[in-house]
Amino acid sequence: MTDELWEVYDSTKLSDYDRCPRLYFYRHILGWVRGYTNWNLAFGIAWHEAIEYMTLNGYQHHEEAFQIFYDKLREAYPDPSRDPEKGKTAQNAHDALEQYAKLYESDNYEVLHTEASSSVKIDDSHKIYARLDTILKDSRGVFSFDRKTTGRFAPWWYDQWSMSLQVGTYTAFLMSKYPENPVSLIIDGTAFIGRKVDPIEFRRVNTPRPNLAQWKADVVQRIDEIREQTDETLLQHQNSIMTTFRRNPSGCFKYNTKCTFWDICLSQNNPWGDRNYIPTGFKKKQWNPAK
Ligand code: SF4
Repeated sequence: MTDELWEVYDSTKLSDYDRCPRLYFYRHILGWVRGYTNWNLAFGIAWHEAIEYMTLNGYQHHEEAFQIFYDKLREAYPDPSRDPEKGKTAQNAHDALEQYAKLYESDNYEVLHTEASSSVKIDDSHKIYARLDTILKDSRGVFSFDRKTTGRFAPWWYDQWSMSLQVGTYTAFLMSKYPENPVSLIIDGTAFIGRKVDPIEFRRVNTPRPNLAQWKADVVQRIDEIREQTDETLLQHQNSIMTTFRRNPSGCFKYNTKCTFWDICLSQNNPWGDRNYIPTGFKKKQWNPAK
């Protein structure tokens, strides 16, 4: 059994591998996901659609953008009475779109693309896919706003981009598509903070130019490891213990949230052997970075 998507990589998949190889195995080899979309993810998807609308049509259209946000959020969470009371709430999203329009009203760029997707070739046997929220152009050259939401702007939030695989991938994408232009990647962040007063903050971070030779080495090393681990796993369907895609207990509580696969991880010794028994509450849905 193989899946053609096993060979389609992006920075999200490689970051999952960094967090925990076993998590990567569940999420990207078996393709298991929770049967529902969690609130943060649903909120982030809706936020992206709203900001994209404002990018294409002008920031003054923030009320229409909010309607897009709201409709998208309600697809995943139809009952407003179950919404959280602080932080990433629909009301805060409404206010944030209005404030964003005002704060950044002097933005003056040409939109070249939104949701731009392509692969970046590293060498003859390695490539990585990227999907950029935006590709824009102004007097600075070609740049991309990468829209992020967070619960707060902690010190690490600013520092994390320096070694980020995503920043390297997106910068390499821009350089390959626009070799004649200076290119840059800007994190366009909005924090929805769990407090009643001033719950919304904005930050834009110019990401440092990555060391692309190092980025290439980082990507190639991870892809080679995953390929090797995958090949070995295919031989382990009858083992009592799966010895590939090691578990990383340090990754179990990222952002103070328990890993989705916690219960499965505690109960399964050879998840490859048990791969046909999808646990209750999960479904199979492979992430396709190329789409
Ligand atoms: S529960 Fe921990 S060890 Fe298991 S997959 Fe998740 S992060 Fe990895």
